[in-house]
Amino acid sequence: VIRINNMSEWIMWVVNGIFENVGTVQDGMRTIVQPVELVDRPDARPLTISRGDVRFEGVGFGYGPDRPVIEGLDLAVRPGEKIGLVGPSGAGKSTLMNLLLRLYDLPGGRILIDGQDIAGVTQESLRAQIGVVTQDTSLLHRSIRENLRYGRPDASEEQVLEALRGARADAFVADLRDGDGRSGLDAQVGERGVKLSGGQRQRIAIARVLLKNAPILLLDEATSALDSEVEAVIQESLETLMEGKTVIAIAHRLSTIARMDRLVVMDQGRIVETGTHAELIAAGGLYARLWQHQTGGFVGVE
Ligand code: ATP
Repeated sequence: VIRINNMSEWIMWVVNGIFENVGTVQDGMRTIVQPVELVDRPDARPLTISRGDVRFEGVGFGYGPDRPVIEGLDLAVRPGEKIGLVGPSGAGKSTLMNLLLRLYDLPGGRILIDGQDIAGVTQESLRAQIGVVTQDTSLLHRSIRENLRYGRPDASEEQVLEALRGARADAFVADLRDGDGRSGLDAQVGERGVKLSGGQRQRIAIARVLLKNAPILLLDEATSALDSEVEAVIQESLETLMEGKTVIAIAHRLSTIARMDRLVVMDQGRIVETGTHAELIAAGGLYARLWQHQTGGFVGVE
């Protein structure tokens, strides 16, 4: 049985397109429901994205029959809008992202991208047009170049280099040298190859998604152990990545929250508040309490 416990693991599943396992496993007291390989409808058509408008309409979902995880959720994300999803642990933020990637089918409601119900489009076309960046993306035991071209095998060398620059990864990649003397883009990642730091891996992941150039981005910026200098560089590369894209980000960091057009606060599978940081602080609700808790009362954002 293969377990999928976190975003980084499941994104490798998405990227590799090898959903081959079905079923549940016990993880302590919890039953983990695993994505089942969904079959495209016979009449499934490729998703065509022109604007990048995302709508959740009356979405309901539960991993098991006993407990709903998402309930009656409505959310319209405008083309190019950047949304920060906020909420306590277990609120359903990651689940919402899983649903947009159609890792699970919806028992209730629908999700539309540019007016097309994602249940009726091919999974390949859906996942090809959604870029995902998580905190600790797994890299392949291949060269840096192959790792980057994974999402877009036909990318030219110039496009690969441009993505590296956009992700602020060009300088450290140029300095890489593996145990077999291969360097730069040819350096191999993994066992005998180069070992990358968390911040470097993340920049490779960002470069990969930049290269993929998907119109919709999902970001899960779990609280990181990166030092603030590296975090600032990552932040810069994320800015480049988000330009002109529709973005849904699970927001943990202050700097992330400040940049977002709108925050959507979830609790127990429902949206309980939406607004900008300033609006939500002024409203004095759940977000304000979470903020207070995280920052010890500091209200401003830079
Ligand atoms: P966090 O901030 O801790 O990542 P979250 O808001 O992203 O939390 P989800 O991961 O979406 O929350 O989880 C929502 C609920 O669904 C939780 O109660 C969680 O235990 C449950 N859950 C999540 N994934 C699975 C799964 N694969 N199988 C069974 N239950 C799950």
